Amino acid sequence: MAITDKTRKALWAQSGNRCLLCRIELVQESEHENDKLIIGEECHIVSSKANGPRGDTTFIGNYDHIDNLVLLCANDHKRIDELTEIYTVEKLKLFKLIHENWVKTTLERDVIAFTNDKSNIKSLPQVTTGKKIIDIINGAHLFDFHHDELSTEKEAEIVGGLLEDFKDYGDLLSDIGYAEIAKLGIRYNDELENLKKMGFILFGLRRKIRLRNDKKENVGLYEAASIIIVRDNNPSIVNNFLIAKFPTDFSFF
Ligand SMILES: [Zn+2]
Repeated sequence: MAITDKTRKALWAQSGNRCLLCRIELVQESEHENDKLIIGEECHIVSSKANGPRGDTTFIGNYDHIDNLVLLCANDHKRIDELTEIYTVEKLKLFKLIHENWVKTTLERDVIAFTNDKSNIKSLPQVTTGKKIIDIINGAHLFDFHHDELSTEKEAEIVGGLLEDFKDYGDLLSDIGYAEIAKLGIRYNDELENLKKMGFILFGLRRKIRLRNDKKENVGLYEAASIIIVRDNNPSIVNNFLIAKFPTDFSFF
């Protein structure tokens, strides 16, 4: 048996397009490319295989029935299937009930609030060329940089140094000629290669963010360069994207 289209549609609808555990949107708008990124996976609570996650030889019924299915992001799918002692059948069923209720009541109460908080979570594409880094940093008003915990002095020097370099050039690029910019792009290609050898991947995006001051007053839209350097085994990496949370309201001044 396979999951029928009807069941699949019902599952996605009841889940509100959100992951059961982290509530991330499972169909992501990619602002960088025209297509959509689907990170949702239909997962069995009780595996149809006896030795699979939460497998149960006494299970009676259809494994592909909606009651035995939950919708999760790829990361959390992996999590529940690895940590089966934590994510038991009973717990997943309870989470499912709570989640579906949350979708229903939130939608009924305030559709706008429901759709708005999606701006908190974004997918950042992997950056593979120096030129792309330049496009992200060139003329940005704000630099929103993060990195994974660093464990050696060498890592701190390279990762920290590189982010500082991006910041310096982001401010300077408008005053530099094309030839210099092209050379910088080539140097960044080497830096990306170097990061890769050290087990790091760079994700980034240029985006507009709305800023608010301390009084929560809107002070306008600003160009922000978001760059995150993470280890290549970071669980938030889904294909060529990093699924990361961003605050919508930056406080500054
Ligand atoms: Zn999730």
